[in-house]
Amino acid sequence: MTTRIDHPAAIALGDGIYRIACQFAADGIVHLYYIDAPEPVLIDTGVTATPGRDLLPALADSGFDLRAVRHILTTHGHWDHMGGHGSMRALAPHAQVYIQPADAYLLDRLEAHTFGYITYMPRALDDATELETVIAQMASNIVCPVRADVLILDGHRIDIGGGRTIRAVHTPGHSRGSMSYFLEDAKTLFTGDAIQGLGGGVGRLPLVFDDSRAYRATIARVAGLSPHRLCLGHAFTGLPGGTEASPVREGAVARQFLEESGQAAKAVEETMRRVIANGDGGFVSVARTVLERLVTDLGVAIDDQGLNRRAIATLHAFYREFTGSPPPV
Ligand SMILES: [Zn+2]
Repeated sequence: MTTRIDHPAAIALGDGIYRIACQFAADGIVHLYYIDAPEPVLIDTGVTATPGRDLLPALADSGFDLRAVRHILTTHGHWDHMGGHGSMRALAPHAQVYIQPADAYLLDRLEAHTFGYITYMPRALDDATELETVIAQMASNIVCPVRADVLILDGHRIDIGGGRTIRAVHTPGHSRGSMSYFLEDAKTLFTGDAIQGLGGGVGRLPLVFDDSRAYRATIARVAGLSPHRLCLGHAFTGLPGGTEASPVREGAVARQFLEESGQAAKAVEETMRRVIANGDGGFVSVARTVLERLVTDLGVAIDDQGLNRRAIATLHAFYREFTGSPPPV
């Protein structure tokens, strides 16, 4: 007899860390992390349905009770990482929710999402149909508002018992309030979406919504921490021919992934700078030229309109850095 398993498994990584791969929307996977400690920790919560549907049974199979979680650490305020905070609050009313102040507004109002980062692509391309789809998706996947207990700043240490501490490392770029969490004894850094290699797959770019300059500085800063293990929010890929897509990277592979992330960001930066220096024909025209040049350097895919819709938000962030333009409205 086969047993039907309708929830993901909690995968042990060592040092009391467990990874749970949770599906959201049609084909998204977000990787959430549980740390078994006297004061158990959850890194991010997925979307509205994730805690009850995926996390509770996955952890129960491994002998843990999600309701005993004491610290909910938010890597950043995007829907696939904080959409489940409201459900977690209901399940674990004694847990404290942490978020970096620059992303706290994303816990307050649904409109922060439907007028923000997730809509940059349809707004930059004037795509009303896509905009409507994205807005509907936000409403069904996020509980807003949700209260934050701790506005956490860089360098803040969280005592999780048993002599273990987690240090907050501000890693802005992907979003302004992206915070990474360093489990010091295990030299493990939970980065959410702060560092992305080449993004969600070959043919794409790392998703940088808010600040492309800060994104490059974040990669350098994290490399300086020399983490033994990187735990990412998605299975980001390295460069073509480089490290393979994976949510967890250790030792030399972690170092190489950081190098590849730096190279990918530098290639976008230098190409954007050169294209704009040659004359700015407006964002969409610049985006087409940059993409065409990045086909060779980064293996970026281009559609029949000469664009790559998954790369638009990033290209717009780099475009703003060199032109001083405002975000798309
Ligand atoms: Zn994100």
